[in-house]
Amino acid sequence: MRTIYGLLAFVIILFVACDRQSDKANEKASSSTVSSEKQIRVVTTIGMITDIIQNVGGNRVSATGLMGAGIDPHLYKASEGDVARLAGADLIFYNGLHLEGKMAGVLERMQDQVKTVAVTHDIDRGILLAPPEFEGAYDPHVWFDVTLWMKAVERVRDTLIEVDQDSAELYRTNTESYLAQMEELHDYVMQQAERVSPDQRVLVTAHDAFNYFGRAYGFEVRGLQGISTAAEAGTADVQALVQFIVERRIPAMFVETSVPRRSIEAVQAAVEAKGFSVEIGGQLFSDAMGASGTPEGTYLGMVRHNIDTIVASLLKPAAN
Ligand SMILES: [Zn+2]
Repeated sequence: MRTIYGLLAFVIILFVACDRQSDKANEKASSSTVSSEKQIRVVTTIGMITDIIQNVGGNRVSATGLMGAGIDPHLYKASEGDVARLAGADLIFYNGLHLEGKMAGVLERMQDQVKTVAVTHDIDRGILLAPPEFEGAYDPHVWFDVTLWMKAVERVRDTLIEVDQDSAELYRTNTESYLAQMEELHDYVMQQAERVSPDQRVLVTAHDAFNYFGRAYGFEVRGLQGISTAAEAGTADVQALVQFIVERRIPAMFVETSVPRRSIEAVQAAVEAKGFSVEIGGQLFSDAMGASGTPEGTYLGMVRHNIDTIVASLLKPAAN
């Protein structure tokens, strides 16, 4: 009998505790500007997409990005924890165009249970680059042409409106202000690029992430590794790049935060062996943003950092 009373008391305490907790949750929701319904749980792959979700979704969504600063999306494999996070989401956004090459299977499986959207889905295939060495696929690094990435933002807006029509106005307003900042950014990159004379606008990097950047802002682009870092650079690739740098008297090349530096340092050493000197002009954010909380931890900040770094290095007079 005593145990039954004890159990009863426990159940009552539990009820009261739960009730208090839901009161607290209600208080929190009513004090914020959005409706009191629960947030939409969004899981993304690369940071640049997480950034879109935060800008467009505001406090209606909670965004979890699987890949942090310095992470290479070409090589990233989903952990067990990632799979659980993906399965528990209301929405999944990824880049697509085979950027997340090792996650293709997981993302495909998720499609049956969670709405899974490639942010590049709406981009006209006619304006995508299709380098022959990437085996008939499109170059996935679309975020470096700011005008192309604006289409990714619109895809996110439209998807959020689809699943949460009550907040459509919020998503539209947020998108408008984010797109305005991106337009400003596009103009800024263009202006900065034009400070470098056209024949000096050559960008040598560790892997081919900057082809859209080159097309949009007038740079000739050379990467040591191909479109995906999954393929190693061979001796022939290194020799061809060394030859190019020496012949064109390129003053600087660039390392990327998500690709090991040693490959680009090997090129630098080989150039020096030929009696020319090429500087490492700084670190670019290619396939990953900077640490969160830093200016480069946002899309706008990373693009700005890149163009500032590139222009400063290329405008420096060559040492020889
Ligand atoms: Zn890449």
